[in-house]
Amino acid sequence: MPQRGILGAMRIPTRPKVIIRSCREYDPEKIRGIIRDGLNELGLKPFGRTLVKPNLVAAGPLFPYAFTRPEFGEGVLRALRDVGGDGMAELAAGERCGITVPSRVAFKDSGWDEMLGRVGVKKYHFEETQQVEIPLTHEHRLRDYIFTPEPVARADFFVNCPKFKAHPWTTVTFSMKNYIGIQDDRHRLIDHDHKLNEKIADLQHIIQPQFIAIDAITAGEGRMLTPTPFDMGLIIMGNSQVAFDAVCCQIIGLDPDTVDHIRLAKQHGFGTTNLRDIEITGDVTLEQAKQRAKGFRVGLIRVEKYFEGTHITAYAGPPPEPEHGDYCWGGCPGAIEEAIEILRVFDKQTDEKMPHLHVVFGAYDGEIPAKPGEKVVFIGDCAEWKGMLHGKDVTIENVYKPRDTMDPHAPVTEDIFVKLAKAGAKVRGDVIRLEGCPVSVSEQVLALVTIGHLKNPFFDPKMAGTFTRGYLGWKSRSLLNMLQRKRYQQNGAFAERGQAAPEGVS
Ligand code: SF4
Repeated sequence: MPQRGILGAMRIPTRPKVIIRSCREYDPEKIRGIIRDGLNELGLKPFGRTLVKPNLVAAGPLFPYAFTRPEFGEGVLRALRDVGGDGMAELAAGERCGITVPSRVAFKDSGWDEMLGRVGVKKYHFEETQQVEIPLTHEHRLRDYIFTPEPVARADFFVNCPKFKAHPWTTVTFSMKNYIGIQDDRHRLIDHDHKLNEKIADLQHIIQPQFIAIDAITAGEGRMLTPTPFDMGLIIMGNSQVAFDAVCCQIIGLDPDTVDHIRLAKQHGFGTTNLRDIEITGDVTLEQAKQRAKGFRVGLIRVEKYFEGTHITAYAGPPPEPEHGDYCWGGCPGAIEEAIEILRVFDKQTDEKMPHLHVVFGAYDGEIPAKPGEKVVFIGDCAEWKGMLHGKDVTIENVYKPRDTMDPHAPVTEDIFVKLAKAGAKVRGDVIRLEGCPVSVSEQVLALVTIGHLKNPFFDPKMAGTFTRGYLGWKSRSLLNMLQRKRYQQNGAFAERGQAAPEGVS
């Protein structure tokens, strides 16, 4: 069973319920009515600090189907207020979008900023808030503690509000996978590798949502950041995260027990995937929902296959800790697939412009038939290889650092502008090594931009202004937080000694 942590007991309904409702358009008032019905049917009344977590991983006109739409969020927030009334001490929405990009940008570009202002709801950019350490004590955990933003840790009524999408690393991103956005960049990248599914299961121990409502009106097919739209016309609601994700899987014809993070969360005691134990109601039956989702493609595809027919040839060997399979589903290989999809959005000629290139992951021990002038890029700390390239003996050492050497108290991440400055130097020569575990999507974007002389998304006029403003706002807020924290610590120290704080320290 889930452990009792600092957040108190997490109640998992013994007979979970999932409600499937038809909704063909992004009409906030219609969505509000459906969500209100759902809350009432589930017997839920929001209270205390009520926090809504949408999926705003990437937003704006360039990523139109990647995020929970603001009309959906508006319907959810207004319904929560309708039902919760004065029982809510705070109604807020919070998110950490895709790393590197400030969440301020995602909130603005998605339309959530404008909507939250209109509805009068508080907003949290999770990377700008204090991070709270949560102890973990369950069996088979990756670590003994994990960090989450303070608004999540103190939420009394937590609402998960994901987007119904495919995912190239975890097959699907429904309710549980949306938890990747409840960590800031520094902590999010830790264990974001071949143990990503285990990390997602561990994140469940931070908090469980009392209510889940997924935006499946227009679902996202095939990919995570740049999915193709798939009209499903559904709003799905529930009160148990594992049961909820299990029903979403069934809708697209997928056995939920084959999705590792869902199966693991079930094993951790967070609910059932067995349809016989889940009550399904609503104005759309499961069979009818399946009909609407017929042909929906998930995104799980190995990198070698993904790049077939392009100028990039990919090779992948096993990641470290071979008991976890022969492929790193949660790290560098999936990140390059997302990186190239982003570049295709910004530059339609990405594939034609890209020079012939070889990318290598993990402990690959086959041939790399690179012709003269073709670069070979070894990506990730665990990449290793030995052989002849361009007439020279080449040895690439595995520099993977064991998991227990990474301390979440002192996570190391590089600022995006530092990464931008270093990108050119990192890809010099014909044999290139990119270190990191993982090498993130943004780092791979920068490497490919430099190698292929492509348009740099970070300098794109559609993004640059908002990005720079958002970046400066994020860094100023973080600096202010740090100064405040220091001031409180100093004041505490003076008070303990019975002294007044010196001038300038108030
Ligand atoms: S270095 Fe990359 S490929 Fe290797 S284990 Fe880490 S995330 Fe996976």
